[in-house]
Amino acid sequence: MRDPRFDILFEPVQIGPVVAKNRFYQPPHCNGMGSWRPQAHAAMRGVKAEGGWAVVNTEHCSIHPTSDVVPEVLHALWDDADIPYLALMCEAVHAHGALAGVQLAYAAYYNSNRYSREVPMGPVARPVDSYYPVQVRQMDKADIRNLRRWWGDAARRARRAGFDIVNVDANFSTVAFQFLSPRNTRTDEYGGPLENRVRLLRELIEVTQDAVQGACGVSVRLIIDEMFGPLGLQAHEDGIGAIALLGDLPDLWDIVVGTWADDSPTSRFAPENAHEPFLKGIKAVTKRPVVGVGRFTSPDTMAALVRRGILDMIGATRPSIADPFLPKKIEEGREDDIRECIGCNICASSHFQMTNLRCTQNPTMGEEWRKGWHPERITPKASEDSVLVVGAGPAGLECARALGQRGYRVTLAEREKQLGGRVTREASLPGLREWLRVRDWRVGQLRKHANVEIYMESDVTPETVLELGARHVVLATGARWRADGVGRAAHLPVPIEVGTAVFTPDELMDGRSIAGPVLVFDDDHYYMGSLVAETLARAGTEVTLVTPAPEVAAFTASTLELRRIAQRLDELKVRMITHHALARAGAGEAQLLHVHTGRTMGLAASAIVMVTARLPEDRLHRALEAMPERLAEAGVKSVTRIGDCLAPGAIFHAVYAGHRYARELDAPAAEIAFQRERVLL
Ligand code: ADP
Ligand code: SF4
Repeated sequence: MRDPRFDILFEPVQIGPVVAKNRFYQPPHCNGMGSWRPQAHAAMRGVKAEGGWAVVNTEHCSIHPTSDVVPEVLHALWDDADIPYLALMCEAVHAHGALAGVQLAYAAYYNSNRYSREVPMGPVARPVDSYYPVQVRQMDKADIRNLRRWWGDAARRARRAGFDIVNVDANFSTVAFQFLSPRNTRTDEYGGPLENRVRLLRELIEVTQDAVQGACGVSVRLIIDEMFGPLGLQAHEDGIGAIALLGDLPDLWDIVVGTWADDSPTSRFAPENAHEPFLKGIKAVTKRPVVGVGRFTSPDTMAALVRRGILDMIGATRPSIADPFLPKKIEEGREDDIRECIGCNICASSHFQMTNLRCTQNPTMGEEWRKGWHPERITPKASEDSVLVVGAGPAGLECARALGQRGYRVTLAEREKQLGGRVTREASLPGLREWLRVRDWRVGQLRKHANVEIYMESDVTPETVLELGARHVVLATGARWRADGVGRAAHLPVPIEVGTAVFTPDELMDGRSIAGPVLVFDDDHYYMGSLVAETLARAGTEVTLVTPAPEVAAFTASTLELRRIAQRLDELKVRMITHHALARAGAGEAQLLHVHTGRTMGLAASAIVMVTARLPEDRLHRALEAMPERLAEAGVKSVTRIGDCLAPGAIFHAVYAGHRYARELDAPAAEIAFQRERVLL
């Protein structure tokens, strides 16, 4: 049963007229489903409620077409026809005794109104934040009056949808915050001193209270520090000052720091509870409950924050995605079963890819409705067949774990002394230690399944497969980085002169020393190129990172890391060259080619590290493919490749592939393996 030191986390919290049953709060978060895929959205939120979160919020819910952030996939309450989508979520959340909250938002500067074609508005006139060629016009008094009216209408609709808490969003992208920012240069009663800049937020809180008539709690999501230096809102000055001015007006304060990238740093750049310095002192200026986030996965950290009077409710978005059942597991004294978030931000990337939420640790996230996957429950085995899983990287570990959970007899064989495959290797790179949780959680769970046997230092050969005679063979043998330069820019090997020192990230991770100056050619565009450069630079090597993309580590814009990566490489004096492909590798000098102009340039380099693409480790597969009769004689019914040995991808692809295989074993095959939501004509 529950450890008494965590009792404090299960105390109820009053939020205006409603009561949260415990202190676990799922703050608003994007999820790529929203009103485009409302059934998927509702099912995902329902699973969070089932897992014990006392408050489950929506994401950004636009109140009016003059603030439209399309193509981002979010929610809206523009008119009554939007109510049913959100009512669906409220029902799913209420079914498990949790409170449903809606984040009412009116974006400013972040919206270009591409869909509605209305002219965007904000506190002052300026271009929109994206490169979309349109400007924001300054709101006049009539606009502000309209805004209050639209806000009240949306709040009334929220109440009709069934929400218990209506949140006034003063997050980085919203009009309420942009008025509050010191960069609001208005000269009327909505600009200038803090009292004036906070006026709109106060009015929106009052309008909301008026609209819900005491039936719902009214919360505020506020940036306490803009992370923009003296030009922005700073916690110790206007941040805390704004809260002091509004004090007990709202029923709950939900505090964020800076933009999304500041608020949700990856574990590569920030540890758990990184925001605490910003949260101190808030409770001295308000009696209302305070929520804060910090990628909390440790129940001890959570309980300490409440005990020390920093927070009243534990805001946890990523931890609730990685493990929707985190509160239940603490409540049942099963802390060891918590699937801890690794802080990789693949979840955030789903928003920018505009597709259902994806999570490295939790392969069921985003699949609750369309595949009927539940994070804790799985269909029992449908046969007595045994399964051999070859390779214990993320794909093999998850496959063996989920098959074990279903009750199959599983043999997991790994060639190396350690389990974890690429995760174990990559976790040795700077900042990636928390990624070991992908391995460690699965190994911990596997130990609980007596029907799974693990063999380490076992190199599986075709003969081993025949001897074992498992009914199904799953090959999760991974991939290795290639050294020939083939990638997105070069579809054929790059000419490499004899005598050129060429390395791959695998060789670096194996401990090979590389003498500089080194050219790191990054045509992979995720984390590896920057980590190779960082590792070498930390060892004192002169490094130039070259990429054909317009940004270094371009995909990491989606994981909210790009700026931090650029800053870190700059601090380490890594030279960064964008827009250039590797045309030729020579001993001592490489030739680069500008991707648009075709102009070439030479770069002195004693060694080149190719971070371009990976080759599947499929030798075992090819050998088995050549012996169908012998496999049949041995009783093997199927041989299936999953994860990187089928098609190299990110770790979340491998975990998903392992989980999917386990779910689908002995299940009828479907041409389209998920349900779709579509507009019915
Ligand atoms: P994935 O990301 O698809 O899980 P990884 O590269 O992380 O792939 O893991 C693959 C694992 O498979 C590695 O740990 C590797 O040592 C192991 N492996 C590869 N070939 C064999 C084999 N023939 N027998 C046993 N283990 C193998
Ligand atoms: Fe955590 Fe990564 Fe999952 Fe996001 S995707 S919840 S950061 S493990």
